[in-house]
Amino acid sequence: EEKKSLNFIEQIIEEDLKTDYKVSDLKFRFPPEPNGFLHIGHASSICLNFGLGLKYKAPVNLRFDDTNPIKEETVFVESIKSDVKWLGFEWAEECYASDYFQKLYDWAVELIKAGDAYVDSQSSEDIATQKGTPTQPGTASPYRQRSVGENLELFEAMKNGGTAEKAHVLRAKIDMASPNMIMRDPLMYRCLHKAHHRTGDDWKVYPMYDWAHGESDFIESISHSFCTLEFLPHRELYNWFVDRVSQPGQLIPKQREFARRNLSHTMVSKRKLAQLVEQNIVNSWDDPRMPTISGLRRRGYTPESIRNFAESIGIGKRENMIDVAHLEFCVRDDLNKKAPRVMGVMDPLKVIITNYPEGKEEWLVTENNQEDESAGEREIPFSRELYIEQEDFKEEANRKFFRLKLGKEVRLKSAYIIKAEEVVKDEDGTILEVHCTYDPDTKSGSGTEASQRKVKGTLHWVSIPHAEEVEVRLYDRLFSVEDPSADKDKDFLDFVNPDSLQIGKAYVEPSLKSAKVEDKFQFQRIGYFCVDRESTEHKLVFNRTVTLRDSWKN
Ligand code: ATP
Ligand code: MG
Ligand code: MG
Repeated sequence: EEKKSLNFIEQIIEEDLKTDYKVSDLKFRFPPEPNGFLHIGHASSICLNFGLGLKYKAPVNLRFDDTNPIKEETVFVESIKSDVKWLGFEWAEECYASDYFQKLYDWAVELIKAGDAYVDSQSSEDIATQKGTPTQPGTASPYRQRSVGENLELFEAMKNGGTAEKAHVLRAKIDMASPNMIMRDPLMYRCLHKAHHRTGDDWKVYPMYDWAHGESDFIESISHSFCTLEFLPHRELYNWFVDRVSQPGQLIPKQREFARRNLSHTMVSKRKLAQLVEQNIVNSWDDPRMPTISGLRRRGYTPESIRNFAESIGIGKRENMIDVAHLEFCVRDDLNKKAPRVMGVMDPLKVIITNYPEGKEEWLVTENNQEDESAGEREIPFSRELYIEQEDFKEEANRKFFRLKLGKEVRLKSAYIIKAEEVVKDEDGTILEVHCTYDPDTKSGSGTEASQRKVKGTLHWVSIPHAEEVEVRLYDRLFSVEDPSADKDKDFLDFVNPDSLQIGKAYVEPSLKSAKVEDKFQFQRIGYFCVDRESTEHKLVFNRTVTLRDSWKN
């Protein structure tokens, strides 16, 4: 059996299984807030939680942490569901923190009755200054000793919208001198007279994250609640809240923390990505430059490449920055195995084969993917007039130029050996055509002695009368620096790369006419491309997923 070392999260679970947990107790959740589209950072959390689910055959809930009606929308819920599915995972139950609003409210009433919560009627500024500092204890609110009866009456009025939005909050009564600042009477509820995407106008009070999250885990019998490191100081409060509502013998969820993953030359924060969309710096949440799951999907990433990426960077205890080149490596690696090879020319130079009969065409056989025998073969048309890339021809060049030059030979991929005989130029000296001859005995795969002849250099090409003109969208880093948020004196938007999108055209072989949205190809010698959803019947649009090699320099 394969012995793979366990990451520290798996070690925690293995330890628990040795002591007080059964495998059948295990249950996990992925808890996004529906305030934006999921990004590559979320992919780490999704792969962690659903990966554990698969490993232990344990259920994993998809829980929408929808406690803030100001920023949450149904479109985000839908996109999150579609992204998790596309990544290849299945949730046990679709849950919403908002489904627990009544239960949370009832529990809050119990806390008030037990003397564990009170209504504070100070301004948020006063509450903040009374919090103290890590070395100085806080100051008790003058409302801390409010009677249970008055608290209950006020809280109900708050719930019904009978009080002004900013007039009151509900706070847990814990310890204003706690060394953990988060334990100094944290907020449980605030008033918001705002419609919620699921509960409409039912509620005028909304629970805070700390109150809602652990209780939601408890309601769903989640055994292990994994979150990112910034919640470490919240763990004490998480436990305190669950302790208030649980009975002996019930499964108590355990919060454990892992490090957030960051990706270079981009931002992994829904809030910041939302700014890029709102300010039209990108066209949409699924713009192929975005580090969102849907953007990567549209760019041509496969679910496997993203899962492999998450797996390879692993789960850590310390926050770090992953070079986006590593993500690109993962997709290149996957597409190399999967993507059919096709020929397309982006920067065309006309070649005329002068000894090839006018009006003749022939269909040559070529393999679809040399990395995958099962991919089969297809036919490509050859004729007297072809395009090759401008950069593949020079009138004169040194011995290291293994492409076409005057008087020398190259092989055209899956076709013939041709020799450049002369160039035709316009009055400015720009090369308009290269006139070549071909050797009819050198047809690839024909088995003749001449076809085995070795020439340095094989070029891709397309037959002009058969070629299809398509749009190509070439992408560069969205930000010109590794960490756009590193400089605290500057706005991350100052570092947006103004040239992250370049639109061009290409001439491609006719087999691509039937390509469908999201189909992926390797344009030989150029890169991997994916059919964009903005393609029309008349014009295909291709997104370049990634170049063949890592050619990008800082
Ligand atoms: P954002 O600031 O982008 O909204 P978030 O943590 O507030 O991030 P949530 O929707 O609350 O976003 O996240 C759902 C889950 O994904 C949480 O458990 C969160 O900790 C995890 N997560 C979010 N971003 C990352 C990241 N960059 N790396 C790893 N896990 C992440
Ligand atoms: Mg957030
Ligand atoms: Mg969050």
